[in-house]
Amino acid sequence: MILTFIEERKGAIVDASLEALTIGRRLAKDSGLPLVALLIGAELERHLPKLREFGAERAILVESPALGSYSPPGYAKALVNTIREKGPKVVLAGATAMGKELLGRAAARLERGLATNCTELSLRDGSLRLVRAVWGGIIFADVELAGEPQLLTLMPHAFPAEPELNDRLEIERLEAPLEEADLRLVVRELIETVRKGVSLNEAEVVVAGGRGVGSEEGFKKLEELASLFGGAVGATRIAINNGWRPPEEQIGQTGVRVAPKLYFACGISGAVQHMVGCKDAKIIVAINKDPQAPIFARADYGIVGDLHEVVPALIEELKKAKG
Ligand SMILES: Cc1cc2nc3c(=O)[nH]c(=O)nc-3n(C[C@H](O)[C@H](O)[C@H](O)COP(=O)(O)OP(=O)(O)OC[C@H]3O[C@@H](n4cnc5c(N)ncnc54)[C@H](O)[C@@H]3O)c2cc1C
Repeated sequence: MILTFIEERKGAIVDASLEALTIGRRLAKDSGLPLVALLIGAELERHLPKLREFGAERAILVESPALGSYSPPGYAKALVNTIREKGPKVVLAGATAMGKELLGRAAARLERGLATNCTELSLRDGSLRLVRAVWGGIIFADVELAGEPQLLTLMPHAFPAEPELNDRLEIERLEAPLEEADLRLVVRELIETVRKGVSLNEAEVVVAGGRGVGSEEGFKKLEELASLFGGAVGATRIAINNGWRPPEEQIGQTGVRVAPKLYFACGISGAVQHMVGCKDAKIIVAINKDPQAPIFARADYGIVGDLHEVVPALIEELKKAKG
C-alpha cells in the first residue's frame, strides 16, 4: 500500500496533501499497490469527497474527539500504529511543519530513514529513486531509502495537485489507543498574523526590498509598486533585523519561500540564503546600484541604478499605462 497522510487546516485539506495524493496515485499505478489516505483527527468524514476527487482507493480514519486539536505525540502514535498494522511500502506526506514533524517522529519510532523535502520521485526496478532539496534548496541530493516502509515528505509546490475522480472509496476506521501521556502536547490555538492585502504565498507579484531600501519609510514606494500589481511586499533578513518590515515578510532560507510570476528584488545583493526563497519565481527583476551585485547573475532582467529613482519611475509608468 501507498499510505498518504492527509493534513487538514481550518477545516480543509491542505494543498501539500493533495499534491502528495497526486504523487501517491502515480506511485500506486506504477507499482500496482493501492492508494490509501490516512486521516487523523475528529469529524473526518467531511473530507471524504476530496479524497474521492483525488483518486484515493481507501481511506483510513483514526478518529477521536481527543484528536480534534493537533497533538504531535498523539498523532505520531496514531500514524505509527497504522503503519505497524497495515505495513505500507511507502508513506508520504507534504513537507509542511506538521508533515515533517510527524514523519520525523514516526521514522524515529520505527527506526527507519526519512527523506524530507523530495522534489522528484520515480519508481525504477521496483525501488524508489528520490531527489531531495537540502541546504534550503541549494543542493539536490539523489537518495535511495533502504528497507520498508519508505518514509518521505514532498516539498510543497514541487508537484502538481491533479484531481482524478474515484467513486469507489473504501472506508476503514482504526482505533486510537491513546493514553494521557500521548496528549501531553496539544496545539490549542493557531494565531495567524493579520496581513493587509494579498498574502506573500499567494501573490503573483512580489516586490522585495533589502538593505538598499534604507529605512521603513523607503518601503512605502515598494508598497505602492506592489499594490499597483495587486501584489505583496517581502524583505531580506537585514531589512527585517533593522525593524523596517515585520518578520513574517522575510523571504529566504529562514523565512518564507515564494513562487510568484514576477519578483522585484530592490536593493538586494542576492545572498544564497535570500535567493532560495525566491528562486522559483518565474521572472526576477533586480534593481541595484552596484553592477557587480551577485543578484544580477540570478535575475532575468537587471536595472543598474538607485532604487529610489527607479521604483518611482516604474510607478509613474505603470500609472500612465493603467490610465
Ligand atoms: C543561516 C543564515 C540564514 C539566513 N537566512 C536569510 C533569509 O532567510 N533571508 C535573507 O534575506 N537573508 C538571510 N540571511 C542573510 C543573508 O546571508 C544576507 O546577509 C542577506 O540576505 C543580505 O540582505 P540584503 O541583500 O538586504 O543586504 P546586502 O547584502 O547588504 O545588500 C544590499 C544591496 O543593496 C544595494 N543597494 C544599496 N543602496 C541601494 C540603492 N539606493 N539602490 C539600489 N541598490 C542599492 C547594494 O549594492 C547591495 O547589493 C541568512 C544568513 C544566514 C547565515
